[in-house]
Amino acid sequence: MALIVQKFGGSSVADVGRIRRCARRIVDAKDAGHNVVVVVSAMGKTTDGLVELAREASSDPETGEASDAGPSKRELDMLLSTGERITIAAMAMVLHAMGHEAVSFTGRQIGMVTDDAHTRARIASVDADRMRAELEAGRIVVVAGFQGVTDAGEITTLGRGGSDTTAVAVAAALKADVCEIFTDVDGVYTTDPRLVPEARKLERISYDEMLEMASLGAKVMHSRAVEFGAKYEVPIHVRHSHRPDEGTLITKEVEKMEELQVTGVVLKPNLGRITLDNVPDSPGVAAKVFAHLAESGVVVDDIIQTVVGDGVATISFTVDHADLPDIKPMLDDIMGQIGGGHASIDVGFAKISAVGVGIRSHTSVASMMFKALAEGGVNIANITTSEIKISVIVDKGDGEKALQLVHGVLF
Ligand code: ADP
Ligand code: ASP
Ligand code: MG
Repeated sequence: MALIVQKFGGSSVADVGRIRRCARRIVDAKDAGHNVVVVVSAMGKTTDGLVELAREASSDPETGEASDAGPSKRELDMLLSTGERITIAAMAMVLHAMGHEAVSFTGRQIGMVTDDAHTRARIASVDADRMRAELEAGRIVVVAGFQGVTDAGEITTLGRGGSDTTAVAVAAALKADVCEIFTDVDGVYTTDPRLVPEARKLERISYDEMLEMASLGAKVMHSRAVEFGAKYEVPIHVRHSHRPDEGTLITKEVEKMEELQVTGVVLKPNLGRITLDNVPDSPGVAAKVFAHLAESGVVVDDIIQTVVGDGVATISFTVDHADLPDIKPMLDDIMGQIGGGHASIDVGFAKISAVGVGIRSHTSVASMMFKALAEGGVNIANITTSEIKISVIVDKGDGEKALQLVHGVLF
């Protein structure tokens, strides 16, 4: 008898018919003698709809223009957390109708405690006792993904795609044997199979490589979920919610043949580039800039500093388009603090990254990538590398083509 956490994503529970199909999987596991905890996302595109509702509700009542700062993040979390609440109740009802005992819980009810960073909160602790008691009583436990509560009792959410993280955190807290991530693809591929039909399914992938792919934009797994999985060594199995086949196992070490240095290629489609021109070229300037940004919790990437001469430098970095409303008001403060320079924002970039543990020792990966892009007529705006990845920034319009070119040459 094992303890299994099963997570079902939005498209897998988009309507009652689909919820029933997921419920059958849950019941199969239960009937096989396992304890089952289920984590669900909001139905279909519910969360997108709620985001749009928030945008409308907080727009200028006269002109209808969206407000620069966007809605209050506390209220946004209050709103977004309702999506998952619908699914847990519906799932429990479907399980009841199939003759099984099931009980639904919100994040707060299972003590999913987070910090107070609304809309991108980090999990601090999970209270396993209540879930354990229900499992011992023979019930299927159904938990709302994506949501938590602060010590002060405020409702938070974990960032888009965060139900994966709920599932892995619950699996870690319960010391589950496996965390199954059921989704609308049958595993982790060498790249997004919807954009590149030639993508190949991976049987296994290491936490490190999956973390890098997820952080760089592969949305099949939320990156925090992979972080949790690695830290608590939770085996994660990514599989198709309505097909029986084995999916992809995310585990510690994955043996690899020498020639397979690249694990996958990732596209991040909506990036903005911030450029700080004519900033003083003196010690502490970069520290001030990035300390300020770090406080906000915004993920900043692809940082480049170039010294232009005459005691001035240019610093540039990229952020997700979704973070631009947070960044804009901060830039004035930052420019004031560093005493000089000018900030500008360009939107409409995409990033293509090749990921793999062997990349550093194989310079050929970089040259193959650049050659394929050049031959395809794609201009590279920026290049960044690390031990296990190479990223290029291109125009957003070239993103999918660049992904196909790079995947084509590396696989
Ligand atoms: P869910 O709602 O189940 O959480 P998501 O839409 O968040 O599902 O994630 C699944 C999607 O991730 C797939 O439909 C696929 O388009 C995308 N994806 C991106 N990169 C990959 C990859 N390397 N392997 C598999 N799927 C990927
Ligand atoms: N419902 C949330 C979202 O759409 C969380 C998730 O699906 O993982 O982002
Ligand atoms: Mg997801």
